[in-house]
Amino acid sequence: MEATANNVEEKKLNFIEEIIEKDLAEGKYKSIVTRFPPEPNGYLHIGHAKSICLNFGLAQKYGGVTNLRFDDTNPVKEDTEYVDSIKEDIHWLGFDWDKERYASDYFEQLYQWAEQMIKEGLAYVDDQTQEEIRQNRGTVQTPGTDSPWRNRSVEENLTLFRQMREGKFADGEKVLRAKIDMAHPNMMFRDPIMYRILHTSHHRTGDKWCIYPMYDYTHGQCDSIENITHSICTLEFDVHRPLYDWFIKTLRIFPSHQYEFARLNLTYTVMSKRKLLELVQKGLVSGWDDPRMPTICGIRRRGYTPESIRMFADKIGVAKREQLIDLQLLEWCVRQDLNERSNRYMVVSDDPIKLTITNWESGKVEWFDAPLNPAAPEGPSRKIPFTGELLIDRADFMEDAPKKFFRLKPGGEVRLKYTYIVKCEEVIKDGNGKVVELKCTIDPETHPKSGSWRSVKGTIHWVSAAHAKPVELRLYDKLFTEAQMGSIPEDKDYKDYLNPESLVVSEGFAEPALLEDESGIAVQFERVGYFAKDPDSTPEKAVFNKTTALKDSFKF
Ligand code: ATP
Ligand code: MG
Repeated sequence: MEATANNVEEKKLNFIEEIIEKDLAEGKYKSIVTRFPPEPNGYLHIGHAKSICLNFGLAQKYGGVTNLRFDDTNPVKEDTEYVDSIKEDIHWLGFDWDKERYASDYFEQLYQWAEQMIKEGLAYVDDQTQEEIRQNRGTVQTPGTDSPWRNRSVEENLTLFRQMREGKFADGEKVLRAKIDMAHPNMMFRDPIMYRILHTSHHRTGDKWCIYPMYDYTHGQCDSIENITHSICTLEFDVHRPLYDWFIKTLRIFPSHQYEFARLNLTYTVMSKRKLLELVQKGLVSGWDDPRMPTICGIRRRGYTPESIRMFADKIGVAKREQLIDLQLLEWCVRQDLNERSNRYMVVSDDPIKLTITNWESGKVEWFDAPLNPAAPEGPSRKIPFTGELLIDRADFMEDAPKKFFRLKPGGEVRLKYTYIVKCEEVIKDGNGKVVELKCTIDPETHPKSGSWRSVKGTIHWVSAAHAKPVELRLYDKLFTEAQMGSIPEDKDYKDYLNPESLVVSEGFAEPALLEDESGIAVQFERVGYFAKDPDSTPEKAVFNKTTALKDSFKF
C-alpha cells in the first residue's frame, strides 16, 4: 500500500515545543516540568481543558512531569468543592499529575522571602489606602508618586510586617510593597503590592494567616520551588512576565520561565468563571454540569468523550494570537470519536406514526440480530423484536411526496432497517386529517437472510410498538444566540443573549436493548444523532441528553 500524504506528514512543532526542544538540545534542563495552576474558585471549562492538554501533553511528549498546583491565594472565593471537581475533571480528561501542591503550602516560605526582601531594603510596609495607592501609581504617560511611607527603616518595616502577620491591623490598613521604581515605564513595577491583610479563613490553612500574598508575588516563586522549567499561561499574563522574572532574580532562586499562548474562545458561549457562576447562581442553567455549559462536567454530561476533547485541543493547536474557535469543530471531534466507538440503537421521536403489517401473523414476534456497531459487523450484536405493529418517525412518511423522497409514501416501498421491505398500502387519518396509521405489507422474500436480496432506495428506523420503551429526550442547542459573545455591544448584558430554545424536552420510543447498554459512553440513535444517558434517569424512565446531531456541516 502506498503511504498517503496524511500518514507521512510530520506535524509541525508549535512554538512552545520549539522552545522545549531547543532547551533540551542545549542541555539547559535534563527533563522538563510543567504545571497546571487553577484557582479553585469555580469549575473547569473547555478553555482550561486546552491548557491541561497542553501542559500535560508537553510533559508526556518530552518525558517530563506535570504538577497540579492550586493557586489558592484568595480565600474569599475559594472552596474545597472546586478543588475536588478540578481533580475529577483532570483525571477524566485522561491525565495524572506528579505532585499535588497548593500555593498555600508555600505561605511560610513566601513570608520568609518577604522578610529577606525587607532586610535587603527591597520591600516596605505602606499605610496608604487602596485608593491612595491607585491614585499615586500615575499613568502610562506620567510617573507615579512615592508613598510617604516608602523610606521607613528596615527595623520599622520588619516590626510592622510581623505585626501584620500577627493580626494587629484591620483589613486594608497596611500592605507590603516591593520597593522598585514609582516612575518605571512598566506600571507593574511601580512598587507592586506583595501582601494584603485579609481576616478570612482559608479552605486549607484555616485562620493561620491573615495576610495573603498577591498573584505576582506568588506564582513565579511557586514555579521556582517546584523547579518548573516551562510555566505556560495565557496571553494576558505577558505584561506580568518581567515582574515574574524580577522576583525570581531578586530572590536568587531556580529560574523558571513563563511562556504565553492564546486563550481559547468558543463561539456561542462564555468562558469567564464569573459569568458561569452567575448563570448557576441565578438558576439560568441547572448547575455547573448543565449539559449546555462549556464546563468540563457539563460537556461530560452532554456525552462528550475525553478522547474528543483531546482531539479538539490538538486540532486547535497553540497560537500566539487570540482565537475564536467555531463550536462546530468541537462537535466534529465528538462525532469522529463516537462514530467509531458508539453503540447503535433505534429510537423513534415523539408523535410517531403506527405502522400495521397486515400480512403478519397476529402476536408473532421475530427477533433480529443487529450489530451494535456497523463498523464491526462481526462484533457484538443486540436483539431487536419485529412484530405486526411498529412505530416510525412522522418525518419518514409523506403523503404527497416529491420524486426524490425515498422514505415511505402511499404505494411506496422502504426497508425497515435490519429487516424487511414494506409497502404502504393504505393511509388512515383521524377526524382532523392527521395521519395516524399506515397499513403495510412486508415482502417476506426480502428477509436479510433470504437468498434473494433486493434493494430499495430508502431505509428507515422503527421500533415494535409493544416493545418500545418510552424515554425522555433532552434536546440541546447553543446556550447563546450570538456567535461572538466577546463582542456584544457595551450597553447589553451577556444574559440578554441566552437562547430560549437551548433546551427542548421531548419523548422518544426506544428499542428495548437501549436500556441495557453498558458501553458507558454516548450511543448513536440511528439516523438521528448521539445521545448520552443522564444521571437523572430512574428505573421507570431513562433520560437521554442529545450530544450532537449526526449531520455535519463543518468544513475544514
Ligand atoms: P477567570 O475566569 O476567573 O479569569 P481563569 O480562567 O484565569 O479564571 P484559572 O483557574 O486561573 O482560571 O486558570 C488556570 C489555567 O488555565 C491558567 O493557566 C489559565 O491561563 C488557563 N486558562 C484559563 N482560561 C483559559 C482559556 N480560555 N484558554 C486557555 N487556557 C485557559
Ligand atoms: Mg486566573
